[in-house]
Amino acid sequence: MDKLTKEQRHRCMSAIRSKNTKPELMVRKFLFSRGFRYRLNHPRLPGHPDLVLRKYRTVIFVNGCFWHGHEGCRFYVLPKSNVNFWQAKVERNRARDAEERHKLTAMGWHCITIWECQLKPKVRQQTLESLAHTLYHIFLQNHARPYPTEEQQLQKVAEEEQHYGAKSSDS
Ligand SMILES: [Zn+2]
Repeated sequence: MDKLTKEQRHRCMSAIRSKNTKPELMVRKFLFSRGFRYRLNHPRLPGHPDLVLRKYRTVIFVNGCFWHGHEGCRFYVLPKSNVNFWQAKVERNRARDAEERHKLTAMGWHCITIWECQLKPKVRQQTLESLAHTLYHIFLQNHARPYPTEEQQLQKVAEEEQHYGAKSSDS
């Protein structure tokens, strides 16, 4: 007989197949179908993000709600036995996640976390659509001119004068 309880064994197995898990595949399939291209588990980036979209300067983590301690989530329920052990473990994961995100942000990467519960059938489509939306938004943001050209500045001044004029004639 092995010494693990059924629950412990289940959690061990979950940890082993934590890469290429189904939720991550859903995200990959969706992104690919929308023409987004990515790399997997970039070895040189902090935290080895699940997906790396270089063009968008964005990394995506697909996190299990239990292991990464999804705050307020009904799937983040600590087992009844060894509560302290599991709690400490999840807290460590959380702290590490935060540190890795911090490093990535400092390196100029946008970090997106998708929780496993956000990929449940009822909410999946909404989650994925909003992911696509966020990526488009990031792309535009990244490619916006840091400073307006002289021509744009003049245009802006002209527009502001127009608004000002319109406002004063109303009153
Ligand atoms: Zn969750």
